[in-house]
Amino acid sequence: MTHTHIDGLQHMQVDTSTPEDIAVEALGLPPNTACLLVQTRTIAIQPVPLPRLQPDGVLVQVMANGICGSDMHSYLSGGVGGRPIAGQEPSVMGHEAAGVVIAVGSQVSSHVVGDHVAIEPGLPCRKCVNCKNGRMNICTSIRYCGAPGTHGTLSRYYALPADMAPLIPKTIPWDVAGSIQPLAIGVQIGKRADLRAHQTVAIFGCGPIGLITAAVAHAYSAKKIIGFDIKPSRVAFAKKYKSPLTGRPIFDNVFILDPLASGQANGSSGHDDDHTTPGDRLWLAAQKNMLSIMKVTNMSLDGGVDRVIEASGAQDSMLHGIALCKDGGVFLQVGLGHIQTNLFPTIALTNKELDVRGITRYTASCFPSAIEMLDRGVVDLAPLITATYPLSQSKDAFEAVAASNDIKVIIKNQEV
Ligand SMILES: [Zn+2]
Ligand SMILES: [Zn+2]
Repeated sequence: MTHTHIDGLQHMQVDTSTPEDIAVEALGLPPNTACLLVQTRTIAIQPVPLPRLQPDGVLVQVMANGICGSDMHSYLSGGVGGRPIAGQEPSVMGHEAAGVVIAVGSQVSSHVVGDHVAIEPGLPCRKCVNCKNGRMNICTSIRYCGAPGTHGTLSRYYALPADMAPLIPKTIPWDVAGSIQPLAIGVQIGKRADLRAHQTVAIFGCGPIGLITAAVAHAYSAKKIIGFDIKPSRVAFAKKYKSPLTGRPIFDNVFILDPLASGQANGSSGHDDDHTTPGDRLWLAAQKNMLSIMKVTNMSLDGGVDRVIEASGAQDSMLHGIALCKDGGVFLQVGLGHIQTNLFPTIALTNKELDVRGITRYTASCFPSAIEMLDRGVVDLAPLITATYPLSQSKDAFEAVAASNDIKVIIKNQEV
């Protein structure tokens, strides 16, 4: 394209077209239809400007985009941790995507047109104290696809730096490729929980991340994996999730977790010297429940599991998880619930000398590990994909995830 600059003295034309602009224009692409979050529970499917291909970038025709819990925080309540969307420009949703390279920047030698790629959705600043310490996932000014204010991947086309678009084998089906990002999160969960061979692992919450974490733990040769969920349908699903390595279920046991009844918190022993609080009584109830779980899973002698992954965000699960974690074990908080919880089992944490950790996003090597695990066939994500929707019906897809009757929901970005 050309711009005419008139300064009164001379009349000159400056051509600002880059080789990238020319390459993209030559493709004659249809409108870049996208799914925008307008306000809580309201989306719009409409064209947005085509992303600008940079000299070091690739332009991707996005083929599949998974929906996950953090999308639902944005969709239902305006953002993870209650970040508001009011007053902000609507932004394109989505952060779990894969597609085909349809144009490459003039400086790119790592990719060619036709390559299949995953999309790493986080763009760290590379300059803050955390980035400089090698922890780019907690960059203080990270731009993350689909987070309020940053356009995501739920569009027909997406452009990003080539090094953020890891190549994937063409044998990986698009639905599965749309779930590489959560598998990369599963790898980061493995790093943060310090998952090692022959450990016992308990996973609270059998949604996509809980199931993916179980698959990773199994691929890492866990000795025993047990799961919990409050929903019978999720427990039934988890029991059927089979290992591609053994053909047998990945979970050794999956239990329904009944909510800790409020009556367990309110009752008093009647003694004058009873100083227990409602929180103490909830903890004691959780402890009792988990002692019986240890019994039926033959872990009483161990005093619990080596690693607890809390992937539900529910306070009851946190209490049960701390109760099930053995002395010296690691409790990893993955699930996103309320901003805070009222209860912190102080004595258990200190007496057991637990490592209580958090995890967010993924770090270097998580995407390559995830892609390699799929390629080698040690993790199978296909059984987790229970529904696909065209981009034009994204609202139905979000509502399906909100109803939580599905496990992994994938949107087909080219079906507009
Ligand atoms: Zn996600
Ligand atoms: Zn940074």
